[in-house]
Amino acid sequence: MREGRKWYVLVIFLLGVCITYLHSSTVETSHSLHDIYRQLYYIPLLIGALVFGLRGSALTYLFICALYVPYLALTWTGTVYFEVKRLLFVLFAGIVAFLVGFFIDRDRKQKMELEKERYLAGLGQVSTTIVHDLKNPLITVLGYARRIREGKGEPAEAAGIIMDSAEVMQNIVTDVLDFARPISLEKEDGEAGTVIRKACDFCSEKAVERGVTLAFEIPETPLKISLDAPRMQRALANLIANAIDASDPGGKVTVSAVEGKDRLVIVVTDRGAGMDKDTLNNIFIPFFTKKQSGTGLGMSIAKKIIEAHDGTIQVRSGPGQGTQVTIGLPLKR
Ligand code: ADP
Ligand code: MG
Repeated sequence: MREGRKWYVLVIFLLGVCITYLHSSTVETSHSLHDIYRQLYYIPLLIGALVFGLRGSALTYLFICALYVPYLALTWTGTVYFEVKRLLFVLFAGIVAFLVGFFIDRDRKQKMELEKERYLAGLGQVSTTIVHDLKNPLITVLGYARRIREGKGEPAEAAGIIMDSAEVMQNIVTDVLDFARPISLEKEDGEAGTVIRKACDFCSEKAVERGVTLAFEIPETPLKISLDAPRMQRALANLIANAIDASDPGGKVTVSAVEGKDRLVIVVTDRGAGMDKDTLNNIFIPFFTKKQSGTGLGMSIAKKIIEAHDGTIQVRSGPGQGTQVTIGLPLKR
């Protein structure tokens, strides 16, 4: 039994004993108090039902009967009205215990089934997304491998396309693993400027391909923070890649870092398409994507990594207004 639940058993036991004492000690002195104390037995009964369900309410009821029935027998008067009232209490308490316990159990069962359904639906959605994302590059790999075997086209060109598709698949697999695994950081004293530059370098090819200028504004002084550099680089690269994706050719993405009092603030700004309210509300939900070939994991992975560094991430965006992602990380003094 869980620790918290043991306390409830103790509370039920103590309440039962105290109520029996109060109830039996007022039989001679005050009839109205005597009646009120008897009604107090409903409290442990309800606690038993609410905490432990039907089995708990049944056991609490038996416990209360074990306390009340001997007292009933010892003080039996034979007066019909008086004794019927007391016996009716035993009956009603049983009915209440059964009904409350039954409905609590039914409610819990329904909730568990709903959770199970949601879990299975989520699992189905995740598998479908992964399979769907892997399907296109896989078809490309198969198609070009077949062309090489049949001696069609330029093998070097085909090999290049196969490598690109394999890279897409590798990215998907890394994303899914990063998302699924509990994150355990290997933090070291590091320099945020270097990590930002590396993340920009990682995305520079994408920026060139899309005709987007990538700029960074980082102070000359070293920005000392304790971090898992490869992971932080990955989080920043995800944000920069999104900013590039959202920008039109000729657009500009800026990554800036400013040293605050005890926090380092990194801002990724783009003047791209921006997001509507619905997108903004969902960007951190895993597998949410508005891109044809997106996994929808970039933002959730970035958030996971940043929060594991005791950092914060905020997004400001509006349709046609571009996007500003602000990250706050604790500085090392
Ligand atoms: P993916 O990039 O695979 O779609 P992400 O989790 O990285 O997945 O992003 C989720 C969604 O958030 C994107 O599909 C996009 O609609 C939106 N988004 C994220 N960053 C930006 C941005 N800088 N500008 C506009 N939309 C963005
Ligand atoms: Mg992304």
